Amino acid sequence: MNTLRNYVGGAWVESASSATLDVENPGTGEILARVPAGSRADVERAVERASAAQRGWKDTPAEQRIQYLFRMKTILEEHAGEIATLCTQESGKTLSESKAEVVRAVENIEVACGIPTMMQGEFSEDVSPGVDTFVIRQPLGVGACIAPFNFPVMIPFWFFPYAIACGNTYVVKPSEKVPGTMTRVFELLQEAKLPEGVLNLVHGGKETVDALLASEGVNAVSFVGSTHVARYVYANGTANGKRVQAQGGAKNSLVIMPDADPETTTRIVADSVYGCAGQRCLAASTVVLVGTARESFKPRLVDAAQGRTTCYGLDGKAQMGAVISRQSRMRIEAMIDDAGKKGATVVLDGRIGALPGYEGGHYILPTVVENVPDSADAAVSEIFGPVMNLKYAATLEDAIVDINSGRYGNAACIFTTSGAAARTFRRDVLAGNVGINIGVPAPMAFFPFSGWKESFFGDLHGQASHAVEFFTQTKVVVERWHNTWIRKF
Ligand code: NAD
Repeated sequence: MNTLRNYVGGAWVESASSATLDVENPGTGEILARVPAGSRADVERAVERASAAQRGWKDTPAEQRIQYLFRMKTILEEHAGEIATLCTQESGKTLSESKAEVVRAVENIEVACGIPTMMQGEFSEDVSPGVDTFVIRQPLGVGACIAPFNFPVMIPFWFFPYAIACGNTYVVKPSEKVPGTMTRVFELLQEAKLPEGVLNLVHGGKETVDALLASEGVNAVSFVGSTHVARYVYANGTANGKRVQAQGGAKNSLVIMPDADPETTTRIVADSVYGCAGQRCLAASTVVLVGTARESFKPRLVDAAQGRTTCYGLDGKAQMGAVISRQSRMRIEAMIDDAGKKGATVVLDGRIGALPGYEGGHYILPTVVENVPDSADAAVSEIFGPVMNLKYAATLEDAIVDINSGRYGNAACIFTTSGAAARTFRRDVLAGNVGINIGVPAPMAFFPFSGWKESFFGDLHGQASHAVEFFTQTKVVVERWHNTWIRKF
């Protein structure tokens, strides 16, 4: 069985730790590889090489730095099919979902190619006689990202293209559940011929994360994952003097008004809840039907859920794939069970145990529950599985009050043909991403991205202008030059 290696200083190296974890294909149960559990020595080796490379890299003009990104874009596009297949094998999602993820990764490289313009400073002439003042942006040093399992390709690309284009060097730590996909991406990216040490890959779990948070050489940490780990990473990283952005979990609500277009709304809402088997941080979990939308939309939504084909992500007919692990399946099933015991109605029960033909995989079919009491975890906590929690509200205002009472603030969506209802919703709802007749409000890479409340710890979000601010520090120069000082030759 293949044990994955780290990529440090331009070479593939074995982990200093002999402990490994199995990497499973959640769609079949097959063990794909072993990943090092990680160690402090691995992190220190990578950070040393990244620090050493940063000195030359920051002096490389931004215009030259982005030439490497242009090559990366071409490499990713040329190998999109292979990368997407690996992504499906490791994460369980469908092939078309994996392909879409590669596109979003490429989009971030494209935006980061604009760094020479985005990194430009500000200038004021004659702030007093002979004195000019300007602001320049300089890289922070070494950045690191700690990624979750659910987007094995895309998420590191929210950060590292911007970081390196700004003159930082970088360490990527993929999720130990899906480490092979990023390993293969790094193998392919070698063809971009970045200077050694600019981009490094270190595997592992908690020990690797703790080493990154403790390492003096790491200046900036970008985390994406569950809320309790995000909070931990933010607290420890900032306590150690690092700049940290930590994107956490979510419990997203989606409101359907009675005037919403029936067909598009039903299709988009079902895609939001069940796409990636509900394992998207922007997926709708709670669907709030306002007024008469209860009668008109409930049967349609249940039909859409029932009609979705669930099977192995590489099977051409798959509309929904597996959840990430047996443990995850059991956790989701226990939440459905608990909701039922506390009085919820399980309208459509996706707990099938085993999927015929893929008995080793971890599948739950689309599930619909309603009237889940707040005492049940499924009402208030992230489920991260293919479960639609139907709720009912008399008015839009009631729906907004209910949404705003939750802990999370990643995304909220409304479906309506009323501009006034949409406007009220977008102004009043407490969420970092709002969808209007959109079920997964993922902004294009030229907009910043993250949530509010317990879905985010930090200030600057990922992507685009926020990424440039996050990966640079400003230096203000106040300069005096009198024209009387010009020598006459
Ligand atoms: P996770 O928090 O379990 O793991 C994320 C990363 O943290 C991994 O690299 C893992 O190795 C590391 N980690 C796990 N436990 C740790 C610990 N105790 N100490 C230090 N490091 C630890 O998350 P996951 O299950 O991989 O991903 C799913 C979660 O990610 C969901 O909550 C989802 O909402 C969230 N997510 C959020 C966004 C967003 O943009 N807000 C995007 C994608 C996923």
